[in-house]
Amino acid sequence: MAEVEQFAFQAEISQLMSIIINTFYSNKEIFLRELISNASDALDKIRYESLTDPSKLDTGRDLYIRIVPDKENKVLSLRDTGIGMTKADLVNNLGTIARSGTKAFMEALQSGADISMIGQFGVGFYSAYLVADRVQVITKHNDDEQYIWESAAGGSFTITRDPNPTLERGTEIRLFLKEDQQEYLEERKIKEIVKKHSEFIGYPIQLVVEKEVEKEVEDEDEGEEKEVKEGEEDEQKAKIEEVEDEEEKKEKKKKKIKEKTKETEELNKTKPIWTRNPDDITNEEYASFYKSLTNDWEDHLAVKHFSVEGQLEFRAILFVPRRAPFDLFETKKKRNNIKLYVRRVFIMDDCEDLIPEYLNFVKGIVDSEDLPLNISREMLQQNKILKVIRKNIVKKCMELFSEIAEDKDNFNKFYEAFAKNIKLGIHEDSTNRAKLAEFLRYYSTKSGDEVTSLKDYVTRMPEKQKDIYYITGENRQAVENSPFVEVLKKRGYEVLLMTDPIDEYSVSQLKEYDGKKLVCITKEGLELDEDEEEKKKREEEAKQFDDLCKQIKEILGEKVEKVLVSNRISESPCVLVTGQYGWSANFERIMKAQALRDSSMASYMASKKIMEINPHHPIIKSLKSKVEADKNDKTVKDLTWLLFETSLLQSGFTLDEPSSFAGRIFKMIKLGLDIGGDETEEMDTEELPALADPTAAEASQMEEVD
Ligand code: ADP
Ligand code: MG
Repeated sequence: MAEVEQFAFQAEISQLMSIIINTFYSNKEIFLRELISNASDALDKIRYESLTDPSKLDTGRDLYIRIVPDKENKVLSLRDTGIGMTKADLVNNLGTIARSGTKAFMEALQSGADISMIGQFGVGFYSAYLVADRVQVITKHNDDEQYIWESAAGGSFTITRDPNPTLERGTEIRLFLKEDQQEYLEERKIKEIVKKHSEFIGYPIQLVVEKEVEKEVEDEDEGEEKEVKEGEEDEQKAKIEEVEDEEEKKEKKKKKIKEKTKETEELNKTKPIWTRNPDDITNEEYASFYKSLTNDWEDHLAVKHFSVEGQLEFRAILFVPRRAPFDLFETKKKRNNIKLYVRRVFIMDDCEDLIPEYLNFVKGIVDSEDLPLNISREMLQQNKILKVIRKNIVKKCMELFSEIAEDKDNFNKFYEAFAKNIKLGIHEDSTNRAKLAEFLRYYSTKSGDEVTSLKDYVTRMPEKQKDIYYITGENRQAVENSPFVEVLKKRGYEVLLMTDPIDEYSVSQLKEYDGKKLVCITKEGLELDEDEEEKKKREEEAKQFDDLCKQIKEILGEKVEKVLVSNRISESPCVLVTGQYGWSANFERIMKAQALRDSSMASYMASKKIMEINPHHPIIKSLKSKVEADKNDKTVKDLTWLLFETSLLQSGFTLDEPSSFAGRIFKMIKLGLDIGGDETEEMDTEELPALADPTAAEASQMEEVD
């Protein structure tokens, strides 16, 4: 007797299995799609390995998937001649190591996802338990013996070395069907499901069907009789009648002889869809191909089917999905993006060199006429043909996105799912940067509930506006109400509101659009077009605040680079601006949030802050008179710190010392409540009506307007 080893399913997998078994779900047929897809993957793998080592295929078996229904035993089996699994593979892949998708799938189910989505989460195998209460996986890998994995769920599985190995290589999955799932043994049903879900699988899917045939059986007696006849010619005549009689009888007998025979039928005989003329292919066919290629449960959003001829020849079909997968940016995971074929023969999936990383959401196939069949991953990296193919694919992707952009609803869907990829592309792909910029969409101070493209922004620019203005920050509300936006709004200029962390990266690479500079309004050097008169007036005004600026700089010391009179704020007393090439406040926030950031980087990149004061603001005016009255007034110091820290917050920075800030605020609160404490003598409310009494502040602002 072979030794039976028992294993416990990893907890989440066990949980997933009981959900699959216990959930009421009618669309159970998708189990077959999942198992066929696994078989096809396994065949891909052995095919790929054999490219560099042909001996790996040396078992005399073709590459195929074979479905065998066994009505007598109520077993549906799926055989493939793929790579098979070693014992360790069985333990790891089928039960003890959870994938990120296990949990993600259960969460998705809880929030209303459909079980048929299972394949996308990388746990499709367990869909076998939709129809079977017991499953065996018999498998043989080139590097190991043949093993039998078996489980009737319930938290555990067994692995046994197969005492009668017959597979040579590959896997056979045996499903012991539940009483009420016997329909999956029906030829008609299986054909229907394969046609529906797996028509475009690249290996022959065979179905073993039982046929009852009437067979012409040679009657053994007749033969003997004839010999007799030959021998005894005399009796011939007499016998003939007899024979005719018997023959009649025999014919009646023959008709009754029915034999059961087994035949294999190939279910997916259609030729590869990409070799067909696009005009003859319906969208349903593309959708069906797309689904079998990607495990997606929904149709694609857009497709591009093209061929390139000339010095180099290939055909390709590219798809854009409707959604981003749950783990789009999980970098560890290899994804199946573009499958590479050479002259109709599958070579490999997730061929990294076919498409840049930022386009990792585009799925499809490429079939080259020029590449050698025995190409390896290493060879591909240097291959010139592949480089040309890649360039063409990227170009076609741009066309495809432009086509999507023709329909607003579709484009919104696309952008919602893949905006990050587009922005990453802007950062990485200098060749296509300008093209990609066409696809960017942002909210703006004028866009209302819709997002705007840069192109539309430009058409709205007043004639005198030269640059494109943007602000980055944590969320729309924060940036929209930021003090930096004030003056631009007043001048009728639109500001793009960028709230995605990746915006910081992409916009720093983009730099300009349509010949217009992209200007961050929270950084120094914001040049608002002013006429000479305006400028002169402002500069003269600024002079009057020179002393105040000096005093503030002295108080804040290294915290600020300079203190200037601002031309960009109208409602707030002051703002903090960052250097043109340093980090913005938003970027500083993002970098601080990244645990692994390099701290040395932080110190020289961290925003050099410039404080800009608003000469028209009552607080600033009041502060100015205070400084003029007494340069060393203690209150000035305290208030300056408060102003600085408050504008840190308002400009989107974080506080280094929140407790000293809080201390100053509490002091203010005490003042407001008239419960003077130990230190309140530092503050003189009489002298600072604007700070202590909001109505007074308003009053002074009113005077301003007059
Ligand atoms: P996925 O196919 O997304 O990896 P599955 O749950 O469908 O997830 O399959 C889990 C794993 O089990 C596969 O990744 C593969 O390693 C292994 N496996 C399943 N079926 C087969 C098969 N027919 N031949 C070889 N390996 C298989
Ligand atoms: Mg699978």
